[in-house]
Amino acid sequence: MDGLFTTSLKIINHTVNYPEAPPSATMRRMTTPSVQDKPQLPELSLAALQAMIAEWKQPKFRARQIIDWRNKGVLNPDMMKNIPSDLRQTLKDEVCCEPLKLIRRECSVDGTRKYVFALRRHRFAGKMIESVFIPEEKRGTVCISSQVGCVLDCPFCHTGTQGFEANLTAGEIIAQVLAIKADLHTEPLSEDLHSDISHIVYMGMGEPMANEAAVFASIDLLMDADGLKISRRRITISTSGLVPQIQRLGDIHPVNLAISLHSAINDKRDTLVPINRKYPLEKLRQCLNAYPVGKQRHMTLEYVLLDQANDQNEDLQALIEFINPDRERVNLIQFNPYPGSPYTGASKQHMREFAQKLISKGIRATVRRSRGDDIMAACGQLKANTKADSTKAEIIKADTKAQTKGK
Ligand code: SF4
Repeated sequence: MDGLFTTSLKIINHTVNYPEAPPSATMRRMTTPSVQDKPQLPELSLAALQAMIAEWKQPKFRARQIIDWRNKGVLNPDMMKNIPSDLRQTLKDEVCCEPLKLIRRECSVDGTRKYVFALRRHRFAGKMIESVFIPEEKRGTVCISSQVGCVLDCPFCHTGTQGFEANLTAGEIIAQVLAIKADLHTEPLSEDLHSDISHIVYMGMGEPMANEAAVFASIDLLMDADGLKISRRRITISTSGLVPQIQRLGDIHPVNLAISLHSAINDKRDTLVPINRKYPLEKLRQCLNAYPVGKQRHMTLEYVLLDQANDQNEDLQALIEFINPDRERVNLIQFNPYPGSPYTGASKQHMREFAQKLISKGIRATVRRSRGDDIMAACGQLKANTKADSTKAEIIKADTKAQTKGK
């Protein structure tokens, strides 16, 4: 056991271990592979930081002060005004305070902001991820990445064309939320839009269920009463359908679930969502039937409507037969093209008609309003391709009222 960390690991169930305090190097390899040597400030619980503070012979209340700064998105010890300089220095020496570097921020005409971050972990330093903030009148949603690239290769998805490069650590997942929180504090949106984070969706780059340990640990951190205090009901995992992992998610963290369905016909889904070859619709059906959904809550079946590929009558009939309308709803998504994409989207009129036919069968169906497509921040468009050699973050603003209050 590493000398600094004395709190034992919390064993959640027999399949997933994740830390209450920063684990030793050996345990870190077991939980979030390739995590760097130093613990990351975003992934520290209050108890873990208190244990470190005790090792450093500092008063216990300093841990709470540091965590309060961290929860506001302030990660640089030099900005922590009430922390004495010797402790700031120790923090810098012993902890990785800012695991992500902001490379680029783009602002859409609708207020959506897309962020490109580079990892700092030595083996993966410079690798890019993207995160998106989507403001509405009464809520602000952060869409976070869980991997660099993706282990899967759904052919309609821009991220899938990047291939898989790395799993993020829990600290790197939470650091996206904290960086956006700090940015919104520094440059709030216009008054008709929500400028704080109320909801989290794991719908950015990567398949979250293929990075299970880090994602589960990050959910813990999001919900932590001493941390960001985001309720389970405001967290959504979007997955292409990794059945065993979804079962464990339901057992451990029954957050909202969104399934990238995109076809209810096995032959077609094998192409559109290749993980279907391993977990076909029959297995997915059983898994969804068992997933715990609270009263008044529904799982979401995401369905990107592609011209001629999955928008025909037989597709509609298969979807009607597949869905359990008491527990599930359909979210029809407009296809957002990217350079070289092999599909075109169904027309808006066709989407509305498709939705109407579902509704006429008693199914809840909505057409998702696309956000941020002018900055390639919409669903399926994320792919980090900015060069990592920038020394200064590039800030690109849209010239609209949706942007900042006078900055
Ligand atoms: S749709 Fe999701 S699972 Fe499929 S390639 Fe894109 S990011 Fe990966």
